[in-house]
Amino acid sequence: MQLEVKTILNCIQRFVGFVYQEVRLRRRGERPQRIEIRLAAHSNIRGQCSECRRPAPGYDRLPERWWLFVPLWGIKTYFLYAPRRVQCPEHGVVVEHIPWSEGKRPITTAMRCFLSRWARRLSWRETARVFHTSWECVYRSVEWFVRWGLAHRKLARVRSIGVDEIHWGKSKRADNFLTVIYQIDSHCRRLLWVGKRRTQATLRRGLAALGTEVVQGLRFVCSDMWRPYLNVLATKAGQALHVLDRFHITSHLNQALDQVRRAESGQLRAAGSATAQRLKNMRWKLLKRYSRVRGKARRELGRLLNTKLTTARAWALKDLFEHFWTYKSVRHAGLFLDFWTWRALRSRIEPMRKVARMLRSHEKLLMNWFKAKGEISSGAVEGLNNKIRVVTRRSYGFRTYDAMEIALYHTLGKLPEPGEFTHRFC
Ligand SMILES: [Zn+2]
Repeated sequence: MQLEVKTILNCIQRFVGFVYQEVRLRRRGERPQRIEIRLAAHSNIRGQCSECRRPAPGYDRLPERWWLFVPLWGIKTYFLYAPRRVQCPEHGVVVEHIPWSEGKRPITTAMRCFLSRWARRLSWRETARVFHTSWECVYRSVEWFVRWGLAHRKLARVRSIGVDEIHWGKSKRADNFLTVIYQIDSHCRRLLWVGKRRTQATLRRGLAALGTEVVQGLRFVCSDMWRPYLNVLATKAGQALHVLDRFHITSHLNQALDQVRRAESGQLRAAGSATAQRLKNMRWKLLKRYSRVRGKARRELGRLLNTKLTTARAWALKDLFEHFWTYKSVRHAGLFLDFWTWRALRSRIEPMRKVARMLRSHEKLLMNWFKAKGEISSGAVEGLNNKIRVVTRRSYGFRTYDAMEIALYHTLGKLPEPGEFTHRFC
C-alpha cells in the first residue's frame, strides 16, 4: 500500500476543523521547485473568531494565502489556504483563527520551531542557508520562539542568582557592557535576564523584570565588588546573603599580577635586559592556577619564580591566596585573610596592595562565601560567562543588540518551547 503525504501530515499534526485537501509537487523543467499543501475548512465546522476563539458564523472568504512549512525531502514546502472571515457577535467581522500560524507572518508555527531548534546548533546564517530561507526569517522565528519561552517560563524555584557584567564587541563604550542575571541554584543554572550597560538602573530594571516575588524569595546573591551592583542588591534583596564569587576575586588577583608583569617587562625592556622578552611570554603560565600548569611550562614557571623579580613575588601572593578557599572554619579563614592582607600591604607592590585594601573593605561579603558553600553552585557564574562569550563572539551575524539578546536567551535561557506537544521535526 502506498503511504500518502496526507496520511503522514494527519498523523503528525491534525488541525481540528481543517483537512489536508491535496499535495502537489511543482516543477521547473525536470527539477522540483516546491511542494504545495492545500488545506480546506471542514464543511460542518464553523470558523473561530481570531480574537476570542469562539465559533462564529461565516462572513466571506479572503484570497488564498501561503505559509512556509518545514521542507520535505529538501524541497521548499508551503501551506495554502483561503481564510474565511467570520462574524463574531462580540468582535464583528474578523479573520478566522488559523491554528498552524500565529500573527501576520507567512510562516507556519512548525517551521518557526524547526528553524529555532536548528539555530541553536548552527549559526543563524548557516541555518538560513541550509533551509533555503533568509537570515531575517531565522531571526524572526527565534525571536518568536524566545518571546514565547520567556512568557511561559517558571521562576518559582529561583533561590540563588549571580549578577555579572560582560563586555561585548570591540569598543569600550558604556553600551558595550551587558549586565546579566543568572540562576545559579544547584538544581538549575540558566540565564534569567540580560540588559545593556552596567549601571544601577540596569540592574534595577533586571530585578524588576524578574518580579518582586522572585527577588524577595532569594536566599543568595553572588556578584563582583562592582559598586552599582552592591548598592542595588543591598536595597532590593537585602534579605539574601550576599556572596562575593571566588572567580571574581581570583580574576582581580590575576589582573593585578598581570599589571605587575607588564610594568616590569616594560622596565626591563627599557634597560635592555633579555629577561623582558621571557616575561612577555609567561603571561598565561602566571595567570593559570599553579596545579594546572604542567610539564615544560611548569619548569619555565619554576625558573622565573626563583628569580628576584617583582612579578615572582606578586605571583607568590596570588598563589598563597588560593588557601583561603580551602578553609572549613569561618574563623580560620578570617585569620588567614588578615595574614594575607597584612603581607600584601607590606609587599610594596602597588597593584597587590590595592587588591588587599579592596578585600579588607569587603571582608564581610567575602566571608559569606563560607556560609553559602554547597548552597550555590560554585563556578556557575564563570561557566555561564564563558558560554555567553561563545555566543557573542561566534559570528551569528548579529546586526543589532536586540538580535544578540535573543540569541543569548535562546542558547542559555533553558526556556520552555512552544508546541512541545506537537510533532518535533528535528
Ligand atoms: Zn470574538
